[in-house]
Amino acid sequence: MTHISETPQAPQASNEPLDLLIVGAGIAGVDMAHHVVNEFPGWNWTMIDSNDDIGGTWNTFTYPGIRSDSDMTSFALPYKPWPHKGTLGDGGQIKEYLRDAANEDGFLQRIQFSTWMKSMNFVTSGSAVDEHGPHWEVVTVKAWNHGPDDRPDATDDARVETTIRTRRLHLACGYYDHRDGFLPHYDGQEDFTGTLVHAQKWHPDEHGGDLEGKKVVIIGSGATAITVLPALAKAGVDTTMLQRTPSWVAAVPTVDTIKTIWGTLLPGDRNSKLTHKVSRANHILRDMVQWYTAKLTPPVFAGYVQGLQLFWLKPSQVRKDFTPPYKPWDQRVCKAPGGDIFSAIKNDGAKVVTGTIDRIVPEGIRLNDGQVLEADVIVSATGLQLQLFGGAEMAVDGTKVDPSKLVAYRGVLVSGMPNLSFTVGYLNQSWTTRADLTARYVARLWHHNINNGEQLAAPVNPGSDVTRKPLLEFEAGYIKRGEHITPRQGDRSPWIYRQDYLREWPELSRGAVTDEMTFGDDAVASAREAAEVAAADSADSADPAGSSVSASV
Ligand SMILES: Cc1cc2nc3c(=O)[nH]c(=O)nc-3n(C[C@H](O)[C@H](O)[C@H](O)COP(=O)(O)OP(=O)(O)OC[C@H]3O[C@@H](n4cnc5c(N)ncnc54)[C@H](O)[C@@H]3O)c2cc1C
Repeated sequence: MTHISETPQAPQASNEPLDLLIVGAGIAGVDMAHHVVNEFPGWNWTMIDSNDDIGGTWNTFTYPGIRSDSDMTSFALPYKPWPHKGTLGDGGQIKEYLRDAANEDGFLQRIQFSTWMKSMNFVTSGSAVDEHGPHWEVVTVKAWNHGPDDRPDATDDARVETTIRTRRLHLACGYYDHRDGFLPHYDGQEDFTGTLVHAQKWHPDEHGGDLEGKKVVIIGSGATAITVLPALAKAGVDTTMLQRTPSWVAAVPTVDTIKTIWGTLLPGDRNSKLTHKVSRANHILRDMVQWYTAKLTPPVFAGYVQGLQLFWLKPSQVRKDFTPPYKPWDQRVCKAPGGDIFSAIKNDGAKVVTGTIDRIVPEGIRLNDGQVLEADVIVSATGLQLQLFGGAEMAVDGTKVDPSKLVAYRGVLVSGMPNLSFTVGYLNQSWTTRADLTARYVARLWHHNINNGEQLAAPVNPGSDVTRKPLLEFEAGYIKRGEHITPRQGDRSPWIYRQDYLREWPELSRGAVTDEMTFGDDAVASAREAAEVAAADSADSADPAGSSVSASV
């Protein structure tokens, strides 16, 4: 393949590095951009995204019924009330809400879509550094289908590399590979006469949009399967959810009662900023209480969740199809607004089968007990592939650095890497709550640097006294199997990332930004040291930096 390089051809008008590049135009990128617009109005900054539109997750996923499984009051941006009544939000609503947010802050036109960050290199020497100081060089290519356009017949411009120079780099790339979900190979799938598709790639318009009169089998028991089943059943489609292991599924009110109550008590209407703020705090507290109840007294939480299920289902079905072998919140608890999945089973003919697949046969799926589930469409809702930092290669002065050899600092910065920050949200409550804490922390660090005349700031490289642990401590299979590609976390502050808003809030919104940090030339030395150590450590490693792994949820 011809390789055309236009390095260094930054999209900025001059050769001067940008003040900031944000990678990712999902909810985390939009939230970060809001802080930049309001707190650093003079900055020359831009945002890129491999998607073709704003929204991140809410643009990538288009299966029927796609919706949040967090309440929208805490999942929405903290500064912009969620305008709809429902407790959960559907994918289209979330995407439009994010577009409105970007429009209101005036940066929608700034986003360069269909642009894939392929690598990020921190440069500490050379003529560009002599002129502008150390900075990041981000190499991008044209994106197609959430990755580089590597189609054999791609046009030449798909291979043109563009280098963006930037003083600061924020990675709001989410935590999974937007290109491909985890699709296991099923024995016999080649013989199947219908359509087999992964939920992440399921665009019903392209895959036999009209499902009327067809039989659909969804493989999986996570949030996706729980969502698709009632959506299709309600539309009159003959739908079966085939699960190997049941999940915890909690019925939640269709309308956000917390917000409704605060909307009545507080001045202004239901969608005022004050009501949003108070309801959001209330939701976050409620979520934390539920989490601690589930963790400390699992039978109480399980009894509550299953007690509600009995409103629609027989005890035998609750035992068979909705009693997981693990405790609540060891994996994410799925939400069913108005108990929609249970109602679909009771009233709309939706079926749930708990069993294991023997093989795919021409007419559907044969289970190990001999039963055959007939299908025209099989949707594999088998999960995501974990991916951090957008799957891009990381380097210092061209020396490749494996992120898994580095240690995350407060789950926001990375050891030894100057002016680099990233967003990971919470896995046990709304992602956005931590995305905003991250944005606020990073903005405070930038203010600190500006006020002190510092150009560069990096966490130190922690010594061996800091015990390394996986960054994402969650029992879900896809997290466990992907943990070797993420940076580590430590066993003490500031090297910890806690799944706990109440404990992180004071640290990230008020805590010191200078603990175990280096600045200026020391930050450059930290980067060089991190690169040397990471390169030495990686010499024997088989895993390429930034690779993604297959994993099921
Ligand atoms: C179906 C589904 C439902 C979910 N529901 C919830 C929920 O209800 N509550 C909750 O808390 N969490 C939920 N999550 C998790 C969800 O990913 C986050 O909540 C949130 O939307 C993530 O926002 P983000 O902006 O951090 O990342 P994303 O939404 O993943 O957006 C990242 C963006 O970065 C872009 N990008 C990535 N790599 C690169 C690169 N190398 N170059 C250029 N661009 C790149 C991607 O194209 C994407 O547009 C859900 C996830 C899925 C898959």
